[in-house]
Amino acid sequence: YEAKKVRHRYVVYTDQLDMALNHRRAMEGALSAAMTTGEGLSCHYQPMVRVSDGRVVGVEALCRWWHPQLGVVPPAQFIPLAEETGLIVRLGEWVLRTACSRIARVPDLFVAVNVSAVQLRDERFDARVLEAAAQAGLPANRLELEITETAIVHAEGAAAAALRRLRAAGVRISLDDFGTGYSSLALLKDLDVDKVKIDRSFVQQAPLADDSAAIVRAVSNLGAALGLCVVAEGVETEAQRRFVRDAGCDELQGYLLSPGVPGDRLDELLDGYPSA
Ligand code: C2E
Ligand code: MG
Ligand code: MG
Ligand code: MG
Repeated sequence: YEAKKVRHRYVVYTDQLDMALNHRRAMEGALSAAMTTGEGLSCHYQPMVRVSDGRVVGVEALCRWWHPQLGVVPPAQFIPLAEETGLIVRLGEWVLRTACSRIARVPDLFVAVNVSAVQLRDERFDARVLEAAAQAGLPANRLELEITETAIVHAEGAAAAALRRLRAAGVRISLDDFGTGYSSLALLKDLDVDKVKIDRSFVQQAPLADDSAAIVRAVSNLGAALGLCVVAEGVETEAQRRFVRDAGCDELQGYLLSPGVPGDRLDELLDGYPSA
């Protein structure tokens, strides 16, 4: 390795660190370029089903990025990168507009769009969201915003006010990955949200592990008592589906039903289900 003297500190560059930094910079450039051209970016849609009658009531929009050299880059990699670099504001707006336009063409279905904490800091956030839905011809009451509990707990002042205005306009707010962040059950009472999505780690363990089973039941009971819609994420097996149904969850989502599919395959997928 080579050591450079930077003022009074020695910074040691290893080849590995150098490679990691170059890789990051290259990814950042590529993601920014993809957003300008739209090339390689797409939205997938995963159905969300009402437990009581098995009908598809909505879809979650999931962003996809395909890079010509790297191939498919998972959101777990490019979303944090986009958040750190601020690109998430443009990316989030692109997903919102793409998803609203696509789902406006499907009668009655809602679309759930993931929103990062960074987007909430934008003071025009609520205006941007409502404008995107209006331009797409999607009524606000067919739009949900999925926000993690960590992001929502830190949404103070302006961000919290923006979320309240969105709810007043009919947009539903959904607490994503519930149970993985700073969760406390008391949080559910204090936050102005419409839905709570129980994280898939609990859902998947529920039929096998007593502690996860207790958590799914508790969140489901409390959600019902507070008038919230309770969603089970990541349902992969019939045993998990039965568990969350018996626990009283209102909606479910997971590979058992379908993974996300590209927009041009959504109609075909919905044809296979009874619809709302
Ligand atoms: P999420 O919002 O909790 O989305 C659910 C993730 O679980 C998706 O992963 C989905 O493909 C996956 N999933 C759904 N059903 C199952 C199942 O039965 N089993 C398993 N193992 N996984 C299942 P994906 O698409 O890789 O997205 C990962 C995360 O990236 C999302 O988690 C969300 O936090 C973030 N993300 C994706 N698209 C966007 C976006 O447009 N904006 C923002 N801010 N974040 C996004
Ligand atoms: Mg989500
Ligand atoms: Mg989730
Ligand atoms: Mg999750």
